Amino acid sequence: MHFDELGLRAELLGAVRAEGYTVPTPIQAKAVPVVLERRDVLAGAQTGTGKTAAFALPILELLSRDRTVKGRKGRYPRALVLTPTRELAAQVAESVDTYGANLRLRSTVVYGGVGINPQIDALRRGIDILIATPGRLLDHAGRPTVNLSRVEILVLDEADRMLDMGFIHDIRRVLKLLPRKRQNLLFSATYTDEVKGLADGLLHSPELIEVAGSNTAAELVTQVVHPVGRTRKRELLSHLLREGDWSQVLVFTKTKHGANKLEKQLKTDGISATAIHGNKSQAARTRALADFKSGKVRTLVATDVASRGLDIDRLPHVVNYDLPNVAGDYIHRIGRTGRAGSEGVALSLVCAEERGLLSNIHRLLGRKIRTEEISGFKQEATPAREHKARQQPGKDSYGRRDRPGGLTRRPAKKGRGGASSGKRGGRGEGRRA
Ligand code: AMP
Repeated sequence: MHFDELGLRAELLGAVRAEGYTVPTPIQAKAVPVVLERRDVLAGAQTGTGKTAAFALPILELLSRDRTVKGRKGRYPRALVLTPTRELAAQVAESVDTYGANLRLRSTVVYGGVGINPQIDALRRGIDILIATPGRLLDHAGRPTVNLSRVEILVLDEADRMLDMGFIHDIRRVLKLLPRKRQNLLFSATYTDEVKGLADGLLHSPELIEVAGSNTAAELVTQVVHPVGRTRKRELLSHLLREGDWSQVLVFTKTKHGANKLEKQLKTDGISATAIHGNKSQAARTRALADFKSGKVRTLVATDVASRGLDIDRLPHVVNYDLPNVAGDYIHRIGRTGRAGSEGVALSLVCAEERGLLSNIHRLLGRKIRTEEISGFKQEATPAREHKARQQPGKDSYGRRDRPGGLTRRPAKKGRGGASSGKRGGRGEGRRA
């Protein structure tokens, strides 16, 4: 399944494309159409599964479809997203801004611990989507600087965490301020009895959505992980390229330096290759791409950012020579394979140091990728001393100096799922490769 089959308007598809998403994650593929039918949803989804877009995209779509509704002006939000923490609230608000960049809907975020006046001003200017933590929202409602009587869609994000943090009474107070007739979406990583209790009282014949075992484009690509020692990746790649007799293979590396090095090494192994990345001139890139498309060169080695603008058809084979630091980039990469009607194959060469990155990817996919060891290419355990050296701050997992943006995350993302949240790092220079 692709994004354009989900029933979202061009403005939203454009925003999603600009983010580099090619295929919906399982939770998105399942939730978006159901939300668009104005049904209630009970979704089991953790951070890192793409759940934010799973509710934000259809909400933006629904609100854009019907912009004539009364109350558009003034302090009457039409959609309300409740989150347990201000970090999550800020992050959801940022996502709503990003996905809604081409629409004329307004959103704002309110949470405690910061001055209330700027929030009051923002509310007064009028909002369509309000993202809030429960306490501060009640504060606004009590003044009253917001009026919740025209909310059409309510989202409880990370409901289990809200309950763990003791927000049940606040939530109930908020619910009393909402109109009875509305659409409710509840997202929760776990189904505790408390969550069930809340869901029972809140949701009307909800669609139950679980991410495991779904059938999306990402699932239609045959994905395999080959565990391998860090120093033997190149040999394994050459071995696979020869054995498989593949033509047109797109190989991803994490860095420009890595791409250049791999290009040279493959050539030494007698395999035609060319690299494409941000340090190459436009002319060199155009030439590399033309050679690859014409079949003159079998292997195109690319970094994530360089691959974004590539105008190439879907390819039969994609290889992740390095796993990406950002799990979403994995989905983007494998979205490059699989021609219409036929399956693509995406292979990942994973060394011991990349296991953490692999778990983040498993989370976003909602399942584990099949692992296949190639005899003679076992993954070695990292010797303790060497491992320690690679963990030094300022060094990447290969012991080289960190590139800007390597594993950094925006400060606002901290404290919410920690390092495994799979959020994108800064999109600025750090992501240019
Ligand atoms: P979330 O679970 O909403 O926090 O999202 C986890 C990460 O996945 C975020 O960095 C998103 O930008 C990214 N993401 C969400 N949907 C997709 C998609 N369809 N393709 C690639 N990345 C995505």
